[in-house]
Amino acid sequence: MRAGESPSEAVSKAPRVRAYVALGANVGDGVVALRLAVMAMSRLPLTQLRQASSLYKTAPIDTDSTTEVPASGADYINAVVALETGLTAPALLAQLQRIEQGAGRERPYRNAPRTLDLDLLLYGSARIDSVRLTVPHPRMLQRAFVLVPLAEISPSSVGIEQLQAVQHQVIERLNELLM
Ligand code: ATP
Ligand code: MG
Ligand code: MG
Repeated sequence: MRAGESPSEAVSKAPRVRAYVALGANVGDGVVALRLAVMAMSRLPLTQLRQASSLYKTAPIDTDSTTEVPASGADYINAVVALETGLTAPALLAQLQRIEQGAGRERPYRNAPRTLDLDLLLYGSARIDSVRLTVPHPRMLQRAFVLVPLAEISPSSVGIEQLQAVQHQVIERLNELLM
């Protein structure tokens, strides 16, 4: 805050960044979980919801290794939203994790079925590689359930070749709206 500036002016001048968040759930009612998560994100400090993709349904796959293998659990509900935020990337991640916890997220083992997963895909053009946060999300290019909804709301963020590389992964767009 500069001299002569009120606190509210300082907040309004905080730099705003366009961030993209991937949402996923495959325990309980995933559609409800994603809608509640979007409402929670739209109420975050210094943050506005700008866009929301359609809802998608995808079979669980493990895309960690170079070979994709089917994973256990029910189908996923997925979507991607765009936020405009004055939060730093670590602060935004902390808020996303707080929302996951509020939805009852547990992490018994890697890639376990989950009530809610919120992954920070992009934070402006930032490249971040810290212990707790890697941006762009390191596995986003391997996942149709990320690239298809991201391309829907931000075509310039996804290349045609990137979409083609995951086009064999089955993804179904739902008629129900996210919001
Ligand atoms: P994946 O990251 O492959 O989608 P996951 O979403 O199931 O797996 P989580 O258990 O949700 O993984 O998160 C594990 C850790 O990943 C978190 O503790 C968090 O610190 C870290 N992490 C690193 N980069 C990101 C990111 N861009 N978005 C969300 N979490 C991240
Ligand atoms: Mg994830
Ligand atoms: Mg996650």
